[in-house]
Amino acid sequence: MNLPILDLARSFKEIKPEVFEELEKIFDTQNFILGSYVKNFETHCEKYLELPENSAVGCASGTDALLLALMASDIKTGDEVITTPFTFFATSGTVARLGGKPVFADVDPVTYNINFDEAINKITDKTKVFLPVHLFGQMCALEEIISVFHDKGIKIIEDTAQAFGAIRKYDGKILRAGTVADIGCYSFFPTKNLGGCGDGGMVVAKDKNISERLRRLRVHGSGTTYYHDEVGINSRLDAIQAAILNIKLKHLEKWNEERRKIADYYKLLIKANDLQEFLTAPVELENNYHIYHQYVIKVKTKRDELMKYLNENGFGVRVYYPLSLHLQPCFKYLGYKKGDFPVSEKLTEEVLALPIFPGLEANEQEELISNIKKFFTK
Ligand SMILES: *Cc1c(COP(=O)(O)O)cnc(C)c1O
Repeated sequence: MNLPILDLARSFKEIKPEVFEELEKIFDTQNFILGSYVKNFETHCEKYLELPENSAVGCASGTDALLLALMASDIKTGDEVITTPFTFFATSGTVARLGGKPVFADVDPVTYNINFDEAINKITDKTKVFLPVHLFGQMCALEEIISVFHDKGIKIIEDTAQAFGAIRKYDGKILRAGTVADIGCYSFFPTKNLGGCGDGGMVVAKDKNISERLRRLRVHGSGTTYYHDEVGINSRLDAIQAAILNIKLKHLEKWNEERRKIADYYKLLIKANDLQEFLTAPVELENNYHIYHQYVIKVKTKRDELMKYLNENGFGVRVYYPLSLHLQPCFKYLGYKKGDFPVSEKLTEEVLALPIFPGLEANEQEELISNIKKFFTK
């Protein structure tokens, strides 16, 4: 078996002719930066996410989306940002880059998302932003705690890099990941559910003052060309990325739905093979529409041995994430130590991501699960 963790070529086949047609047009015009393709994509995202006009701002990466959102929230030296230690590095790396202080709160062992009670406990008079992550494609129940933070003047930025298209049902309404709080940050890194052919990102804000500021910040803080209201960065979405993302956006619902079917089948296979005593399948909370950016199981013992065994047998399984962010060498100065966030630390020893992507076939899943069974019962 040779099953990679992700095989993007399978879904690309479906859109290849359309992509090359669009690329040819862009090369003919030679308009590569921002322009009509980006505007068009931003408009389509606003419609898809049910956001007001001009609220979506394309930028160069998910990391820059976070950076721009934090800049638009005036994060400066010493300001505290409450966030999760169990996520990709960029979530807190961007805070630190602006001189802000990442303040970690432990996560929930079932959803792997930040624990709200712990986050609320970390509020001080220096807290400026709460930065939760909709990890692996499942939304946090943000609606429950928005007012707690807003009442204290704290902004909420949603790291939605892994959850474009995830939703929650609440009070008869549909809540879309990245649009529930103040600012939403998306990544179009090729491996994400909506991924381009290079780096790309987007930041969205319903508040017009914020979205206008974000739009200026991505072009060096200039409202009118060569006149600078504040110091921004150079972070724009390329026309080429926008063209491809526009095409992929039309397929996103179908692809996300396919990921959900794959997840259901893994769950069924785990049960049918009596593997529950060795591992736990991911849990989708009630009212959530999980889009399974990653399918992350928890392995009770011998996670590393299992990973090695599967890798040797041609199955691309991986660990997201092997080191909790509070223990990263670069954050030593924050003064955290081992034991500070026991849930996050335990997850780093237990989690294992199985392949999940549009085009993954049932027999490949069966083969993988039967190898897991072989490992535990050999
Ligand atoms: C991918 C990712 C980012 C960063 O996005 P890039 O486009 O790679 O810069 C930020 N946060 C999370 C949770 C991510 O998964």
